[in-house]
Amino acid sequence: MDVSVVIPLYNEAESLPELHAWIKQVMNTNHFTYEVIFVDDGSNDGSWQVIEDLQQANTEVKGIKFRRNYGKSPALFCGFKAAQGEVVITMDADLQDSPDEIPALYKMIREEGYDLVSGWKKKRYDPLSKTLPTKLFNATARAASGIHNLHDFNCGLKAYRKDVVKNIEVYGEMHRYIPWLAKNAGFTKIGEKVVQHQARKYGKTKFGLNRFINGYLDLLTLWFLSTFGVQPMHLFGTLGSLMFLIGLISVMIVGGHKLYYILNNLPHRLVTDSPYFYLALTSMIIGTQLFVAGFLGELISRNSEERNKYQIQRTLNLDD
Ligand code: UDP
Ligand code: MG
Repeated sequence: MDVSVVIPLYNEAESLPELHAWIKQVMNTNHFTYEVIFVDDGSNDGSWQVIEDLQQANTEVKGIKFRRNYGKSPALFCGFKAAQGEVVITMDADLQDSPDEIPALYKMIREEGYDLVSGWKKKRYDPLSKTLPTKLFNATARAASGIHNLHDFNCGLKAYRKDVVKNIEVYGEMHRYIPWLAKNAGFTKIGEKVVQHQARKYGKTKFGLNRFINGYLDLLTLWFLSTFGVQPMHLFGTLGSLMFLIGLISVMIVGGHKLYYILNNLPHRLVTDSPYFYLALTSMIIGTQLFVAGFLGELISRNSEERNKYQIQRTLNLDD
């Protein structure tokens, strides 16, 4: 099979028939063998009924229905698991992404050797309240991930080599950072294609302003996981040592001071009169806590199933 189109959707009943007809037309024109996997993320507007009806008339239509609303990432995760095509295309269900882009994306994966191609909605039809923070968001994501050639991390329209979707795990709200997940898994040929974008035709956006807060927190998490995920002590130990050093120096100042005054028979003050005493106290407590956090982190990471999970591309002359 050439192409799997994975479509996560939450209450998008109105646009589904139009979207499907459009995909079908593009696929037939280009003679692709394909499947369309609709992942109904717990809709309550009759989307599933529409998908069932589409399936009745079209054998290439497949569907997954969640019992409740989990979010876009879980929907993508299950769609990826089911996908069988050599190239996997994801697109939003709201007709904001155009199926006309599929052939060019397909070509970039199959002929130009890209692992992942992300759409770039260069000209966007979204309110300013969304486009402006998005610019900031993308700049941060570029800097943190080191994928400098992407302008639009969170574009719903993306194409993947099959290997990629089978080897990354999208969860929580990490769909915003799929290129980074792919990069962490060793898929480094990541490209971009300018794509058409339309204003939402039916319904309204499913994400509020908290998308930006959550987006930033997830960015921090991913940075931490990709840098210190396996060895948390490297982060906590460094910070802890730093705090301890500050504490040690402070103690030496406080102690040295007191000793000097005693030895010279000067009237000596209480150590608690010195600001260095409090510096020493707090930094040593914090330092210890950081070390404890580091050790706990190491224990957790030692028990994690991920601890020895590597991306093995090929083996030579090994059984199995
Ligand atoms: N979506 C989903 N589950 C959710 C929220 C959204 O499957 O909990 C789908 C939604 O139906 C759409 C896609 O994710 O197909 C993108 O959502 P939306 O268009 O609301 O986001 P925006 O375009 O505003 O970024
Ligand atoms: Mg949309």
